[in-house]
This record gives sequence, structure tokens and C-alpha cells, in this order.
Amino acid sequence: MIFETLATSGHEEVVFCHNKDAGLKAIIAIHNTVLGPALGGLRMWPYKSEEEAVNDALRLSRGMTYKNAVAGLNLGGGKSVIIGDPATDKSEALFRAFGRFVNSLNGRYITAEDVGIDVNDMEWVFRETEFVTGVHQVHGGSGDPSPFTAYGTLQGLLASLQHKFGNEDVGKHTFAVQGCGHVGMEFIKLLHENGAKVFVTDINQELVQRAVDDYGCTAVGTDEIYDVDADVYSPCALGGTVNEKTIDRIKAKVICGAANNQLATDEIGDELSKRDVLYAPDYAVNAGGVMNVSLEIDGYNRERAMRMMRTVYLNVSRIFQIADRDGIPTYKAADRMAEERIATIGKIKLPMMGNGGPRFLGRMRGH
Ligand code: NAD
Repeated sequence: MIFETLATSGHEEVVFCHNKDAGLKAIIAIHNTVLGPALGGLRMWPYKSEEEAVNDALRLSRGMTYKNAVAGLNLGGGKSVIIGDPATDKSEALFRAFGRFVNSLNGRYITAEDVGIDVNDMEWVFRETEFVTGVHQVHGGSGDPSPFTAYGTLQGLLASLQHKFGNEDVGKHTFAVQGCGHVGMEFIKLLHENGAKVFVTDINQELVQRAVDDYGCTAVGTDEIYDVDADVYSPCALGGTVNEKTIDRIKAKVICGAANNQLATDEIGDELSKRDVLYAPDYAVNAGGVMNVSLEIDGYNRERAMRMMRTVYLNVSRIFQIADRDGIPTYKAADRMAEERIATIGKIKLPMMGNGGPRFLGRMRGH
């Protein structure tokens, strides 16, 4: 069964990691290393079945191939999952055992934090392998990616405004921002600094109040955000909020935000295109997080990170060009851009076969 699945999904390698003493049951999925080592986070989740865990690793690693390719990174796509409850099953031994498996891949896979994992867990992984990103700043890591993601999102927004309205004047437009969390609040701040009118919502009222007090936003209810008369709808909380129920309510002509998996289905993406609503593909817009950690590989530097975020503008613009060129919705154009880059670069180099691997500079292990 699994080989049949891999034959269609195109994965290069799937590693089953087991250590009885540490209680480790993990899967590392490497989807594609044509552009470089497979980078993607580690997720810890109490999966109901092994099949569910495998499928999640396969799906998420494939997503990373596309995200890293569109971001212009010299990185392929991978992801890992640990089967377990993050609230009760974490231990030093668990993460060090996982780290030894990552190390055994000689840099073909580089891990990072994802759902259920924090920087302290990564410290244990880092004891066993250098093929980790998102380590603490004291070790030369990149720290919290949220401000970078927000700045990258602003670049994606500028490209969207240019394409839709022929100007990049953020202050001329109104925004409906869903989610005032780590990325959302930074994004709201940037909109405010550019003179925009911003409607906000969050299930956390304290955060909403902060957005009102600090950045002059107008607060609306969590359900009302879809009805707001804004030029841009910016999902910065959950996935799947552009769906059958909300599509008729959203008045915005542009959808651009940081949340992952904003479209509930591909059909919704087709429908947006028919209605002439410009959707800036989420994984291109929110690539700031992965761009930021990727810089740890050859020595993290904040100035380089900010410069790299500006490339989101070019990536999103290129997606719009491909959509116009081929007459396809933007979500499909993003995938096409990734596939075209992998195909073109693949012709000039061989896949990364694990001999050598990336070199991490400027980081120190241990305390
Ligand atoms: P976060 O948890 O700090 O913020 C999410 C906010 O959404 C919270 O304040 C939460 O209260 C709010 N929220 C939850 N349900 C809501 C609802 N129904 N209505 C309104 N608000 C609701 O997370 P974050 O790091 O800011 O990430 C936001 C989104 O961006 C996520 O989808 C995440 O996957 C994506 N993303 C984040 C980064 C990053 O660098 N942090 C990078 C790429 C993608």
C-alpha cells in the first residue's frame, strides 16, 4: 500500500523511527530534494492511527516542497511527525532519540518547530544533530519568525494591491484582519504605520483591545469580519475561512493574509477567480517564517532576513503573471511556479544524495 501511495505522491524517502526505551514512534517524510535538503518542521500530535500519522507526514512534506520552491530557497520539502500527546509524552530521551534519526540522514532532512513543539524540545534534538533550524537565539538561531512573516505578508499585499488596483498605497485601502496573534498584530501595526483603515477581530478580547488602543483599529465580532466593507480580507488566524458559507459574504476584492490553508477547497479558489477576487496564495505570502529559519544554515543575520522578506513581492507578482499567462486561478499558478522551478533547476543539477549535506555556520551546541 505505502509504495503505491509513494508512487503517486512522488516522495523520495519515508523513514520510520522507533525507539522502545524512549517511547519514540516517528515518521520522517522526504518529498523532494531536487532544490536542496528537505526542510520542514516536526509536529507532535496524538494521531488516532499510524495511517493518519503517515498521511499527515506525506501531505505536509509535499506542501513544504511547494512552499520552499516558490520562496526561491535552495531547499526541498520534508516534514516529520511524532505520534504522541505533547501535553504528557515529552521527554529528553524522546527528542534525543528523534535527533539521532535526523542525524542519520546526513542533512538530507532538516527539522524545525511545528505544531506541538517548542524551542526547548528543539534544544534536545540539537544535542544529537546539527540539522535543526529554529534553535534558540543563544545558539545562533533565528528566534521568533512572526515579525518577519508579517513583513513578508506586507510585501505580498503590496504586490496584490499593485496587480488589482494599480497602486501600492496601503493607506488608500481598508482592511479586515482576522486574528491579532503573533503575526496578525505585527501586520496590523504595519498597516497602521502606512495609514490604513483596519477592522480587526479575535476570540481573545484583550488582543482586540490592544489593536484598538495602539493602532486605532475598529473592532468587530468574530463572525462579523466577513461582512465588513473592506478592500482586503486578511486571514491571520485559522485555515479554511474562505469557504462555501463565507464566500458570498466577503466583499473584499483582494484576499491576502498569513494563515495557512485559507481556501477550504480548490473549488473555492476557482470560484474566487471567476468572481474576479484576487487571492494571493497563502504559502507564497507567509513564506517569511521558513525564509527566516533557512538563513540559519549559513549563518543567521537579521539584515539578510529582512532583505529576503522583500522577495515575497517578486514571488507573488510572478504567480499573478503565471495565472494571467495560463488563464488559471492563482492557487494553481503558485503550484505551477513551484513545479517549473523544480523542473528547470533539476535539469542543471542532480538530486541531493546525502553525501556532504549542508554546513551550519555560526552556531554553537551545548549550553
Ligand atoms: P497565533 O496563535 O499567535 O495567532 C492566532 C490568533 O488567532 C490568536 O490570537 C487566536 O486567538 C486567534 N483566533 C483563533 N481562532 C479565531 C477565530 N475563530 N476568529 C478570530 N481569531 C481567532 O498564531 P500566529 O503565529 O500569529 O499564526 C497565525 C497564522 O499564520 C496561522 O495560521 C499560522 O499557521 C500562520 N503562519 C504563521 C507563521 C509565523 O511565523 N508565526 C508563519 C507562517 C504561517
